Amino acid sequence: MRPPLATRISPVRSCVACRTRRPRDELLRVAVTPDGAVVAEGPRARAPGRGAYVCKVSACVHEAVETGALSRALNRELDRPKLRAELEGLIDVTEEND
Ligand SMILES: [Zn+2]
Repeated sequence: MRPPLATRISPVRSCVACRTRRPRDELLRVAVTPDGAVVAEGPRARAPGRGAYVCKVSACVHEAVETGALSRALNRELDRPKLRAELEGLIDVTEEND
């Protein structure tokens, strides 16, 4: 619950699970690339294509994947167990640097 830094300039995006608005670099991104691959990535990655965002917490990852919120945001069927595992793996990595 840190206040955003005044000097930080980052686009704001909403988590598809809890709808909280956060700077984009505090969220995980799931993108569908132009060739149709689904990519889960951390804040620094910028895969091309349509993206949806989710908080770096397992509760939001779970909800976003299991309720279909991510599928709706991306307008696409997803491999839920695989995507959830990938996103949860990114949480572990990113929390180390927080
Ligand atoms: Zn969230």
